[in-house]
Amino acid sequence: MTEQNRQVFLVERPTGKLEERHYEMRTSDAPEPLDGQVQVRTLLISLDAANRAWMQGETYRKAMGAGEVMDGYGIGMVTASKSDKLAVGDVVGGVTGWQDYSVHKAHHLQKMPAGIRPLSHLISLYGIAGKTAYHGLIQVGQPKKGETVLVSAAAGSVGMFVGQIAKNLGCKAIGIAGGLEKCAWVTDTLGFDACIDYKGEHVRKRIAELAPDGVDIYFDNVGGDILEAALFNMAMKGRIVCCGAISQYDTTEMTSPRGLPGVIVFKRLRMEGFIVMDFPDKDAEAERDMGKWFQEGKLIVQEDIVDGLESAPKGLIGLLAGDNRGKRMVRVAPDPA
Ligand code: NDP
Repeated sequence: MTEQNRQVFLVERPTGKLEERHYEMRTSDAPEPLDGQVQVRTLLISLDAANRAWMQGETYRKAMGAGEVMDGYGIGMVTASKSDKLAVGDVVGGVTGWQDYSVHKAHHLQKMPAGIRPLSHLISLYGIAGKTAYHGLIQVGQPKKGETVLVSAAAGSVGMFVGQIAKNLGCKAIGIAGGLEKCAWVTDTLGFDACIDYKGEHVRKRIAELAPDGVDIYFDNVGGDILEAALFNMAMKGRIVCCGAISQYDTTEMTSPRGLPGVIVFKRLRMEGFIVMDFPDKDAEAERDMGKWFQEGKLIVQEDIVDGLESAPKGLIGLLAGDNRGKRMVRVAPDPA
């Protein structure tokens, strides 16, 4: 019997803030695989700030347009196979999109190692969130013991790992997050040395107080005014790791940091962007170290799981507004194992 496939379409490209009315759920028959393809049952979908950035135009991938099934990374299980590379029951990761079922050429999917449970760790600890934090901090930031690392969106999926990795490497970790409650969680539970509430405190002055000798690495997840506040507090030869600019995604009002390029020249700073896929030869090392720290109790993994495919639009809108703590994802179907 053919399964029913619920799909969430982006029906209008937002110009201002993303709203639920920009999406529509439609149901049709699940697609069947052709030769060389497999059918995948989506189990978990990662909700990412980047999902919103894709609607603004071409980025590291093509823009998301109206009338398309919402794109997104997911973890699923192979439910039908016409490929000798993947078998029914294999757990895979790939661009499943916001839908119950999808078909893919087998080589477009990554077969996940058997036995990792909960499957959500394939999205958080061992997934994009963990690897973005690890590669961005270690490969781009190149931290040295004793240095001061500042990270924005510190209670979010990438930020929470950045500060904890920094601590594990012997650095001082300062976070920036929205609200006293989130900041208390960042210090008391995640173990950062300090956290600045950007909604209630003067960010530039607080960074200066907390890092009197300057910030060696600023891991930027937000861009805009917070980036500017960090720039003016950098230490000589500091590194700015440009990971994302969430303050610029869900708005038409772009702000850019003032003071460039003067401060870069004067302080001999290095400002470098990266995409998580830039370091494939370091992925195994990231998985090994992150797994080891987790097993040793040196890395807390906070997941924020929303239930049901129909909750995906609300979940993404909430993430952009800061509702989440840790890695937000959608459970589309329970783990069959
Ligand atoms: P998070 O889990 O970090 O959630 C986003 C957080 O951003 C919210 O919880 C909110 O927390 C904060 N935020 C929202 N608006 C603002 C604002 N205007 N100013 C300051 N903080 C804000 O999301 P993701 O992990 O998906 O993304 C984090 C960043 O990492 C994004 O910039 C994303 O683009 C980037 N990224 C980059 C990758 C790469 O390969 N370069 C890969 C993956 C992610 P609060 O309550 O503190 O405001």
